[in-house]
Amino acid sequence: MTTETRQIDRRGLLAGVLAIGASSVIAPQTAFAMLGERRLAFRNVHNNERIDARYWGASGIDRDGLAEINHGMRDWRTGDVASMDPSLIDLLVTLRDKLGASPRTSFDLISGYRSPRTNASLRAHGGGGVATKSQHMLGKASDIALPGVRLETVRSAALSIGRGGVGFYPRDGFVHVDTGRVRTW
Ligand SMILES: [Zn+2]
Repeated sequence: MTTETRQIDRRGLLAGVLAIGASSVIAPQTAFAMLGERRLAFRNVHNNERIDARYWGASGIDRDGLAEINHGMRDWRTGDVASMDPSLIDLLVTLRDKLGASPRTSFDLISGYRSPRTNASLRAHGGGGVATKSQHMLGKASDIALPGVRLETVRSAALSIGRGGVGFYPRDGFVHVDTGRVRTW
């Protein structure tokens, strides 16, 4: 391959990525970062299930990887699977990177998707901080911890990203992050 065709190939690839960025959930300004692969690893603390999936590659979204993540983030009480917000998955990746952890580092997942049934039951049993219209029910929230990293550090890093909601639950051992409005509790 000559230098010239290589340059054209790269320009063509970049144009394609930018086009995807303009027409989907991925903002154009993040398109450069999207050239690489993106993966997310986590362990569901309730059933000890482990997920380590690549959900973005050179040719765009990896649907198999996303499906794996959706399955791993399902409502573990009822088995209901939802399509998680891809922005939430990106947010977790950004958070992990900010904490200086490698792409294969596994989050502890305390809660991902919550079905309306589970949410109602948690509210009925006096679950503090369980909202009527929980972002968990929309597939836009997760309660997480990063083993070996202080919860306060996870929370500060999440706040510094400035995207969505960040809730701090030190007694329950997790930080809630979601892609709803920017807010803190
Ligand atoms: Zn939560």
